[in-house]
Amino acid sequence: MDTNAKLYEDLDRILITRDQIQEAIRKMGKRITEDYAGKEPVLIGILRGAVVFFADLVREIDLPLTMEFMAISSYGSSTKSSGVVRIIKDLDRDISGKDVLVVEDIVDSGLTLSHLKQVLATRKAASVSIVTLLDKPARRKVPLEVEYSCFNIPDAFVVGYGLDYDEKYRNLPDIGVLHPRIYTQED
Ligand code: 5GP
Repeated sequence: MDTNAKLYEDLDRILITRDQIQEAIRKMGKRITEDYAGKEPVLIGILRGAVVFFADLVREIDLPLTMEFMAISSYGSSTKSSGVVRIIKDLDRDISGKDVLVVEDIVDSGLTLSHLKQVLATRKAASVSIVTLLDKPARRKVPLEVEYSCFNIPDAFVVGYGLDYDEKYRNLPDIGVLHPRIYTQED
C-alpha cells in the first residue's frame, strides 16, 4: 500500500516503516531458530492483532514448529485498557511438555500476557516465552518478563501491521501513531 493511501491520512506520523519491520523480523527469526535448536516449539498467535506479525515471523524460523491461536479480550473500541482479561478462543491442542512461544502484537500494561502466562503454566508447558513486535515498557502495570521484543516504542497509540483502532487500520503495512482527532470524540 502506498503511503499516500487514504488510511494514512488518519496518522499523525509513521513510527516504524515496513522495511524496518521486516528487517527486525528477520533478526528475530534467526534468534529464535538458534535459541530453540533441536526443539519443536508451539507458536501461539494472539488473535487478531498478532496475525500479520505471526505470518511473517513463522516464515523466518527454520524449525519444525506448530501453530496455535488464542483470542483474548483487549481494548474494544477504546484506547484505554479495561484490565479485564478473558479467553474468547482457547487452544485446540494440548501443550503439556511443549516449548511455547506466545506471539503478541504489543505489550502495554502487561496485564493480558501476565494472566495468559499463568494460564499456560497450569497446562504444564515445558517453557513459556513471549515474543512481541512492540513493547511500551513505560506503561507496565505488572512485572512481566518479555523474552523477545522487536521494538520498544514510546507511550503513543499506534495502528497498522495488525494493530487496530475500532477494528480498522490492521491492513496498513507500516506502523503509525494514530492522529488524536480520530479518537478524541470518545469518553
Ligand atoms: P496490555 O494487557 O499489555 O495492556 O495490552 C495488550 C493489548 O492492548 C494489545 O494486544 C493490544 O490489543 C492493545 N494495545 C495496547 N497498546 C496499543 C496501541 O498502542 N495500539 C493498539 N492498536 N492496541 C494497543
